[in-house]
Amino acid sequence: MITSGNDIPRWRSALQPALESRRTLGLIRQRQVRQGPCLPAMSLNDRSLISFCTNDYLGLSNHPDVLAAFIDGAREYGVGSGASHMVTGHCSVHDQLEEALAVFTGRDRALLFSTGYMANLGVINALTNAQSLVLQDELNHASLLDGGWLSRATSRRYPHANLSALEQALRDAHPVPTLIVTDGVFSMDGDVAPLPGMIALARRYGAGLMVDDAHGMGCLGLGGQGVIANNNDDTLIKQSDIPVLIGTFGKAFGTAGAFVAGDEGLIDYLEQFTRTYTFTTAMPPALARATLASLKIITTEPWRRQRLQTLINTFRSGMAALKLPLLPSDTPVQALMLGDVDRALAASQFLLSRGLQVSAIRPPTVPAGSARLRITLSAVHTDAQLQRLLDVMAELAHTFSRSEMGDLNVIN
Ligand SMILES: *Cc1c(COP(=O)(O)O)cnc(C)c1O
Repeated sequence: MITSGNDIPRWRSALQPALESRRTLGLIRQRQVRQGPCLPAMSLNDRSLISFCTNDYLGLSNHPDVLAAFIDGAREYGVGSGASHMVTGHCSVHDQLEEALAVFTGRDRALLFSTGYMANLGVINALTNAQSLVLQDELNHASLLDGGWLSRATSRRYPHANLSALEQALRDAHPVPTLIVTDGVFSMDGDVAPLPGMIALARRYGAGLMVDDAHGMGCLGLGGQGVIANNNDDTLIKQSDIPVLIGTFGKAFGTAGAFVAGDEGLIDYLEQFTRTYTFTTAMPPALARATLASLKIITTEPWRRQRLQTLINTFRSGMAALKLPLLPSDTPVQALMLGDVDRALAASQFLLSRGLQVSAIRPPTVPAGSARLRITLSAVHTDAQLQRLLDVMAELAHTFSRSEMGDLNVIN
């Protein structure tokens, strides 16, 4: 056997050191085991906690209509789809969901994927080749960044939401075919991409624009269409302005899966050329049925979005009163920036000791030096649960100010 010493075969000699260095940096992540459903009051590792870290922003993952639709779907179609969409896996309920999503987003057509990660990976690859350039916001979700890196195109990142840097990159790239890729709502910061400026730049330089609205769809806009909904009226940003739109179902929809929506020609092309669409088993039809039920609730129950916005406003003003500065965000993703990993972990541990589950987000999920608490709110959190969070945040600020960790509101 060829080894690198200690009888560890060469192919795996790098694994243990990588694991150890991650452990030394305090970056090892541990799975919690949940007992029972994803609700604000949940059981994790057999402990009852109030959770502020799920992406179930509208509380639909346990909605009785969604659950009933899932069970009906399984009765009608069985559990597995049995094949890829191009073979025999594509069912009438997939068609219905695609049509409903096209209407919902004001696009010609939508195409389903099994996960958002797969949609992003596949679509970026299908839309680019070795001659292309992909320009990504530096804070884009890993699935978008990976989509660029795993493609044959050249990938570049521009500073977060920085339109002049984006314009410079577009100017430098001209006439290389370029795809601009961005989160709609940034998943770890909660802010919204500067879409009007991006649309203007894409138009001026003849670039494509792909927006992944995993965290906005369902939550933002009067009708719940997310970042493509214009503020204060029910019009949508046109498909000619945002030609490639990604939505996912694992967050506000409370189910699982994803879609890409756009004009007829684009989706016809993606249906043929996206490898993560072709070479994977179709989403279980019961899931499509459940997602249709979610979509119906999203479109007919705007009170859920209003409730969510009320909670967001109450939380932000409560944190401001405690002088705990949150990153700017009007979305259910709220971030308390703490800088180094130890501070973020200590804060998360403290909240946990008080029965609250709030994630410490660390590198590599976020850039080095920007570890934070990520607090997510859901329309089904009660006023009392939110008040409990604010009470414990007050305690946390007090505890930090008396420890060598320093004031919470001073970023190291
Ligand atoms: C969660 C997320 C994804 C991945 O979606 P999945 O369906 O969970 O694979 C993609 N993009 C963004 C911005 C996300 O937050």
